[in-house]
Amino acid sequence: MTEIVVRGLYIGRFQPYHYGHQSVLERISKQVDEIIIGVGSAQMSHDINNPFTAGERIMMITRSLEDLDCRYYVIPIEDLQRNALWVAHVTSISPPFQRVFSSNPLVVQLFSERNIPVESPEMYERKSHSGTEIRQRMLSGGDWQKLVPPAVVDVIEEIKGIERLQRIAGTDDE
Ligand code: ATP
Ligand code: MG
Repeated sequence: MTEIVVRGLYIGRFQPYHYGHQSVLERISKQVDEIIIGVGSAQMSHDINNPFTAGERIMMITRSLEDLDCRYYVIPIEDLQRNALWVAHVTSISPPFQRVFSSNPLVVQLFSERNIPVESPEMYERKSHSGTEIRQRMLSGGDWQKLVPPAVVDVIEEIKGIERLQRIAGTDDE
């Protein structure tokens, strides 16, 4: 008989990947057999709220989770400009999953309406550990490095991510 593998889906934009995400994934890894990490808004990059490409975000995630004791798959998920069809869109490209983990209210609403229950993991130091706060610190020269795993610092350095973000935040007005 084939064994039943329980897979959990975790979706985020990961702009950038931080210790809040890592702490959730460590907890999820104890509750399922395999994890699917969906990289949302995959088509976006070089934008003040979405500075990093899907490939760069996948590098951040894969390198940071090297020691995770659970098999995982990272899949890019492009936006669909139709929220009502979004769950079907995700399901159509993801490996099969039985559980969803998210605290994002829209994600919770859309899956719940399709009768797929969503578990919302507890937040980990949310005030500082949020993509918005980290991008803000990157722009203002604040200390963002301690909020992300060392592998994320390495990736951002390699791609000159801070220079990118600071430049695209500028204007061409005099
Ligand atoms: P942004 O501010 O850009 O929205 P974010 O920190 O919310 O960034 P997302 O990629 O939007 O990051 O989040 C992916 C998932 O991780 C969401 O379900 C979100 O609620 C959750 N999450 C974000 N920060 C934390 C945290 N500190 N602790 C636990 N979960 C978190
Ligand atoms: Mg968010």
